[in-house]
Amino acid sequence: MNLHEYQGKALFAEYNLPVSKGKVVFKAEDIIDACNEIGGSKWVVKAQVHAGGRGKSGGVELISNPEDGVKFAQKWLGKNLVTYQTDKKGQPVNCILVEECTNIAKELYLSAIIDRESQQIVFIGSSEGGVNIEDVAKNMPEKIIYQGFVYKDDSLNENAENIAKVLKLNDQQTLQFIPIIDNLLRLFVEKDLSLLEINPLVITENGDLHCLDAKINIDSNALYRQPELLDMRDETQEDPSESEAAKNDLSYVSLDGNIGCMVNGAGLAMGTMDTIKFFGGNPANFLDVGGTATQERVAKAFKIILDDPKVKVVLVNIFGGIVRCDLIAEGIIAAIKEVEVKIPVVVRLEGNNADIGSKILSKAKIKIESINDLAVAAKKAVLLAK
Ligand code: GDP
Ligand code: MG
Repeated sequence: MNLHEYQGKALFAEYNLPVSKGKVVFKAEDIIDACNEIGGSKWVVKAQVHAGGRGKSGGVELISNPEDGVKFAQKWLGKNLVTYQTDKKGQPVNCILVEECTNIAKELYLSAIIDRESQQIVFIGSSEGGVNIEDVAKNMPEKIIYQGFVYKDDSLNENAENIAKVLKLNDQQTLQFIPIIDNLLRLFVEKDLSLLEINPLVITENGDLHCLDAKINIDSNALYRQPELLDMRDETQEDPSESEAAKNDLSYVSLDGNIGCMVNGAGLAMGTMDTIKFFGGNPANFLDVGGTATQERVAKAFKIILDDPKVKVVLVNIFGGIVRCDLIAEGIIAAIKEVEVKIPVVVRLEGNNADIGSKILSKAKIKIESINDLAVAAKKAVLLAK
């Protein structure tokens, strides 16, 4: 689950990280009061969406007159902001963060992720931060450091200094940087983050380190023990089909292709997508109906898959391990009737009672392509999608 920048910065403040004085507003006219409350004579106004790249798309503006902030808010509130990180539709802007403007001497990059291979939290740093970080990664990979950390071990200072060197920090800044890493690491572990990015982390004109942006992603599997973070969820920023699926305990991720996939088990779902790709097709989604592929769940899954207008055919691939394929076949037929599926459906059943299941499917009064071999089924789906 992603957080908005203003929510991420509230967490930063809680962990003693240097952030700007700011206020989030939901109505354009409130910008004036926010600027007055913050004080000073220059501010930055930032559209809040779950995506980066706002700076390059007009979603961040420096102002020296609160009225300009009102105009900025009027322009964006209620509209969608499209950046190179969003889809073509963009993300809805429901609030604006107003901050005291920071005078920047240099923009750096700092992020943290979980590295499963080394089983560590890896911090990524670069002296070349800012809105073109993707180009740095592509053209100047030597300017980027990857430094692993083990929570609460005693090499924190040494590891943080390794990053500080690549960021070209002076002694004074390095002394500021070590507690920043310490606090970020604590935040990462205590709040169950899966990703944290500060781009840019800046050196101000006074020579101090300061966090100007905050991107935070929380491990959704840990939200049950982070109720105050769960309260920060903004469903308007999420794919509606993905939210609907999550509510029904289905794992669904929408993709760009036109072959809808309904599979039981995440590994089998990935294998199914690979097979579709192998035969030249493109999956429209990842969908794991889970171990209990009941009629109710299958019907719900069909509804979610068919909500995507790109879908031209559905490939159902079910392995009957605990469940019996004959029961699943009946569930599929009932679900197709219930949801009034009008596009071709290819079903591949394997495992417990698969042959009985296939017979039930081929005798059904609705048109289902029942194919037992996955390769043949995938090829058929690819053909029907064309
Ligand atoms: P993003 O483009 O969505 O990642 O949004 P950011 O929050 O990173 O802002 C984009 C850019 O706006 C930054 O890289 C800075 O160059 C600039 N910016 C943001 N806040 C300030 C500020 O307080 N002062 C100044 N001078 N520039 C800022
Ligand atoms: Mg940024």
